[in-house]
Amino acid sequence: MTTATTTPTTAADVPQVARKITTAIPGPRALEIQKDYDRYVTAGVGQHEPIFADSASGATITDVDGNRFIDLAAGIAVASVGNTAPEVTTAIQDQATKLLHTCFATTPYAGYVEVCKKLAELTPGSFPKKSILLNSGAEAVENAVKIARRYSGKSAVIVMENAFHGRTNLTMSMTTKASPYKAGFGGFAPDIYRVPFSYPLRDAFGADGAAAARAAIDKIRLLVDPGDVAAIIAEPVQGEGGFIVPATGFLEGLLTWAHENGIVYISDEIQSGFCRTGEWFASTHFAIVPDMITTAKAIGGGMPLSAVTGRAEIMDSVQRGGIGGTYSGNPVSCAAALAAIGIMEREDLPARAAHVGALADELLAPLAASSRVAEVRGLGAMIGIEFVKPGSLEPDGDIVRRILARAPQEGLIILSCGIYGNVIRLLPPLTISNEELTEAVRTLSAIAFEEMA
Ligand SMILES: *Cc1c(COP(=O)(O)O)cnc(C)c1O
Repeated sequence: MTTATTTPTTAADVPQVARKITTAIPGPRALEIQKDYDRYVTAGVGQHEPIFADSASGATITDVDGNRFIDLAAGIAVASVGNTAPEVTTAIQDQATKLLHTCFATTPYAGYVEVCKKLAELTPGSFPKKSILLNSGAEAVENAVKIARRYSGKSAVIVMENAFHGRTNLTMSMTTKASPYKAGFGGFAPDIYRVPFSYPLRDAFGADGAAAARAAIDKIRLLVDPGDVAAIIAEPVQGEGGFIVPATGFLEGLLTWAHENGIVYISDEIQSGFCRTGEWFASTHFAIVPDMITTAKAIGGGMPLSAVTGRAEIMDSVQRGGIGGTYSGNPVSCAAALAAIGIMEREDLPARAAHVGALADELLAPLAASSRVAEVRGLGAMIGIEFVKPGSLEPDGDIVRRILARAPQEGLIILSCGIYGNVIRLLPPLTISNEELTEAVRTLSAIAFEEMA
């Protein structure tokens, strides 16, 4: 791309092709809805953008005022095959006219079984695998812990610093960040021990993942007897925590130690899974084969679905009826998932994710060279830009908040992350075109340079 190294001028100079902003943001219709929102919707759910989505296609979202935005969030890594992908939408429509719900434990249906078969085939590891389907990511993590405890007969759970695992009592207890996830929500679940994750930019070990693993293991030994530990759970690339890619050797060291000590190793691939990082599952980048994997987000093609997949002997250790749920593995969600997985296979979305990542890296080169950017990092199409005070490592969440406030005005949907809120994360649909991605990243870079000036 020849545009990659041209110095961005202002956001207004980037031609609006995929984007189209024709009203003030928020527009008049959005302002009307906002009134009822403020009156009837709890403030607790939070609101990133002052716009209301009306429709979406691929990597663009159109709001109720007819403004068009390029989507670099994909609903937090959900719309990986693109929003309203025709095959997914058709599968949902067909399924909705045939069978909406029975409760799988009451009257089973084939779609659920087929999704479990796909999970067994696609996840790392050549051993026999089984799955349970659920509704949300948090529910998958909850169930993975329940199953690991049942299997091992032990209760302690090891989690990582900067981890995010969800918002239910157990999973928020496993999550690191107090605000907004935990403040005022105690008492927390017991028997959870937190150890440092490899963070090459900031920890003492840098690229020496094996040393970072030894330090984490020392910390585990200090906190809890290994004989009491049911499971170690880690995101292979931390999502909410800041798109942190651990140094090679870190996850490998943890997994090896877990197995030496009869501990179940769980990869939380809810955000990193299903092609996002350039592999079907990010664990593959680290040559680790987890005992269990949690998935959600992209698996359902936009419909709520999650799963725990693991070694058959672990998954079968639970008494009949011990896990499940009324809605878990809904037939429409399963049909959507099978269609979405079909697109991922046919279009080779792992390769496409790698390409998206490489193109974004190239386009972000001028920004990466700024003294306000500590690092542009990530795997595949899971890209983080960490902002710092000039020439230091001091996190700068303020600049990220200013860039994010400008983004919708310029026709972009963008999210932040990071324990200090100082990382911009790019998670576009993997089907985004080169043109859309180029326009979006050039606009983002221009906004960032204007705000940093
Ligand atoms: C989003 C996420 C969760 C929680 O998923 P929900 O569907 O929001 O409950 C758990 N773990 C990771 C790594 C996530 O990114």
